[in-house]
Amino acid sequence: MKKQFETNAIRTQLKRTENLEHSVPMYLTSSFVFEDAEDMRASFAEEKDRNVYSRYSNPNSSEFIEKVCQMEGAEAGFAFASGMAAVFSTFAALLDSGDHILSARNIFGSTHSLFNNIFPKWNISHTYFKIDELDTVENRIQANTKIIFAESPTNPGVDVVDLEVLGAIAKKHNLIYIVDNCFASPYLQQPLKFGADLVIHSGTKLMDGQGRVLAGMTVGNAVLIDKIYRFSRISGPSLSPFNAWVLSKSLETLAIRVDRHCENALKLAEFLEGHEKVNWVRYPFLQSHPKYDIAKKQMKAGGCVVAFEIKGGIEAGQKFFDSIKMLSLSANLGDSRSIVTHPASTTHSKLTVEERAETGVTDGMVRVSVGLEHIDDIIGDIRQALG
Ligand SMILES: *Cc1c(COP(=O)(O)O)cnc(C)c1O
Repeated sequence: MKKQFETNAIRTQLKRTENLEHSVPMYLTSSFVFEDAEDMRASFAEEKDRNVYSRYSNPNSSEFIEKVCQMEGAEAGFAFASGMAAVFSTFAALLDSGDHILSARNIFGSTHSLFNNIFPKWNISHTYFKIDELDTVENRIQANTKIIFAESPTNPGVDVVDLEVLGAIAKKHNLIYIVDNCFASPYLQQPLKFGADLVIHSGTKLMDGQGRVLAGMTVGNAVLIDKIYRFSRISGPSLSPFNAWVLSKSLETLAIRVDRHCENALKLAEFLEGHEKVNWVRYPFLQSHPKYDIAKKQMKAGGCVVAFEIKGGIEAGQKFFDSIKMLSLSANLGDSRSIVTHPASTTHSKLTVEERAETGVTDGMVRVSVGLEHIDDIIGDIRQALG
């Protein structure tokens, strides 16, 4: 019988050793031994599905990959040392010099830098489209376009992209469709259902959820994953067995944690929506969100990030951050500890005002990654800081 998400997250595990351990041990080993000359030859000829060297595969990584594949409904996957290692290796493995990427403009800062500053070195170009103008996407496809890419919900504006619309365009024009699903986690949204070929995650965020390790993952179509695997086993961005072990444990509690993150985030968003010092609030499962219907269609709940704008611009924003007592001023998200950030003075400070506006960042904008503390304490801290 097919088991449920929560059950698979817990009961998918490596076969027990002769020690009959209940919880899976860590395989901190860089290499694996061969039985004899024939085993050695057959292993290197890839006639056997077995571990050879931990840059290629390791039992802990394999377990972590299998869990994420089950969650996303994917055929295969590869685990990376960070989310950006996953993004870089996925594109680098699939693209040749002269190829073109069609991407949403609202994407993670380092991915944006990769497209703008690194890929042009290898003659890989890109065009951005606005996520509010999906009807213009087809016109931007070129003869050399190979990949279409988007994230949803977006960072830090918490906007939502209709994943199904992009899936139909990708299918019609035979493009590889890749979605960064980091903000939703595999529990809230499975982009493969909407036509994606590959899904990328930063395990650093909700997947670990406790701010301990960096990790990344790409899952999806087995033929594409094989190309990514072959690129990565040579270039070496693999996840460490220790981090894989931590993450596989983290996934056991993903559903229950993300449920609470979302419950807390919705309550905070509702509180802020009624507050006199707040101009606007953005949260996918608030009815006032311009993409509320799309969010409801493709997500199980709204996620852990709430954005809002404080009245009074930069000055009011700075006073707010200086008054925060419990929440962490940090750049991460998806942690059990609630985090507040000011994108205009941190992650987006290098952009011009116009560029910031394009990504939905205003001077008074605050991004909250709502954690797992009691909601009364989270709201209490934000209420007193708003003054
Ligand atoms: C954090 C993040 C990444 C990069 O992940 P790292 O683990 O920090 O390398 C990529 N995409 C999104 C949407 C992110 O939030």
